Amino acid sequence: MRIIELNNRQEHILQIVKDNGPITGEQIADKLSLTRATLRPDLAILTMAGFLDARPRVGYFYTGKTGSQLFSEKIKKFTVKDFQSVPVVVNESASVYDAIVTMFLEDVGTLFVVNENSHLVGVLSRKDLLRASMGKQDLESVPVSIIMTRMPNITACNQNDLLIEVAKQLINKQIDALPVVREVTDGENLKLEVVGRITKTNITRAFVVIGTEEIF
Ligand code: ADP
Repeated sequence: MRIIELNNRQEHILQIVKDNGPITGEQIADKLSLTRATLRPDLAILTMAGFLDARPRVGYFYTGKTGSQLFSEKIKKFTVKDFQSVPVVVNESASVYDAIVTMFLEDVGTLFVVNENSHLVGVLSRKDLLRASMGKQDLESVPVSIIMTRMPNITACNQNDLLIEVAKQLINKQIDALPVVREVTDGENLKLEVVGRITKTNITRAFVVIGTEEIF
């Protein structure tokens, strides 16, 4: 499978370098009866895409990497901070009713719950709120802290984590979102401050970025 579509001339250049590399740009141009200047953009594309490597005074050589190897190398460069969204938080004393309203107004599927020190204490999903709404209780008097998934059972990530690792967590834990957190010390204790949000939508965006970039 080749993810980048190469044109005929680029395919031809690739074949020449495979068979003859290391080979200079001049020599490739000679073989194709073209000028070095005409070839320059194609050589740049093939080098940037990772199919070819160029060494000064040696020439071009074939890296041997397939399209899918290059694809996975690119994915492994994506970090959480490149794709994260703004987090939406509610206080642990907020009611289930308020959380539902916040979820609609902010148009998100997951809310993070914080305490009065802004430290992460819980997560609320759509189904958590639906479940709480099925009973007969008054939603305005039930605090979210009763129904949320709470620390330490929360899967979180850091800004510098790889996006692919977060994607694996979403799949393995069967959840829709992870809070992006920063560790802060609170006396003896290590607490988490919510700085972002990574959802399945952010992962989908990374997929689209890769799929629509001609060169990566
Ligand atoms: P939904 O329940 O609406 O399908 P999820 O699949 O994200 O949404 O949530 C499933 C359960 O996992 C919910 O009870 C939710 O509180 C919990 N949950 C969601 N995100 C996390 C997370 N990052 N860490 C721990 N638990 C989570």
